[in-house]
Amino acid sequence: MRALFVAPHPDDDVIGCGGSIIRHIRKGHTVTVVYMTSGEAGSLVHPKEELRLIREAEAREAASFMGFDDLIFLRNADGGLSADAENVTCLTRIIRAKRPEILYFPHTGEGCRDHRITHDICADAVKRARGPWFQECPGEPWSVGIVLCYEVWTPITEVSYTEDISDCIDLKLDALRRHRSQLTLVPYDEAVRGLNRYRGAMTGRGIYCECFQILTVEKIF
Ligand SMILES: [Zn+2]
Repeated sequence: MRALFVAPHPDDDVIGCGGSIIRHIRKGHTVTVVYMTSGEAGSLVHPKEELRLIREAEAREAASFMGFDDLIFLRNADGGLSADAENVTCLTRIIRAKRPEILYFPHTGEGCRDHRITHDICADAVKRARGPWFQECPGEPWSVGIVLCYEVWTPITEVSYTEDISDCIDLKLDALRRHRSQLTLVPYDEAVRGLNRYRGAMTGRGIYCECFQILTVEKIF
């Protein structure tokens, strides 16, 4: 299976679905992560260009720790992401090139603007990629079979899919701790452990769980 994850900022992928990334890797699946921005606005100490390099290096280190290295940095302005035709075309191209069977991106109710815009870009690109149109996006049309939307810091109110990540919660948190520039500001690892434990307790599906909204399931029979 080929799995594609789209993150507004480096670390959102690990926060929202790091356990699922690790589970895909363990099953031998191909994993790619696309970062819409490099999170260069996430500090009052580092200049943006310096923080961009730091955060991309942290993302590479976290990915290497989880066991993959296929990362794409689109370097849109952090805090100024736009669901314009250029970004939708770019994502459509990536979907047709990578041909993922499963795609993850943030859910539509996220409080952070860049997260909601990422949702809109990806949802649009999924539709564009599947049909015989948009010749500026080379390759055959590709229909993503499963689309799951993940939660970062705004919990999903209507959960439609739960993944038990109890056997890899420690690895997930260790991967998140590679994003050192962010964890010096906020103890995100403690917050994620709390969220995933809450999800496990309330769904009864495991000790630690990641929750998603299903946007698309193409095939049942
Ligand atoms: Zn973010």
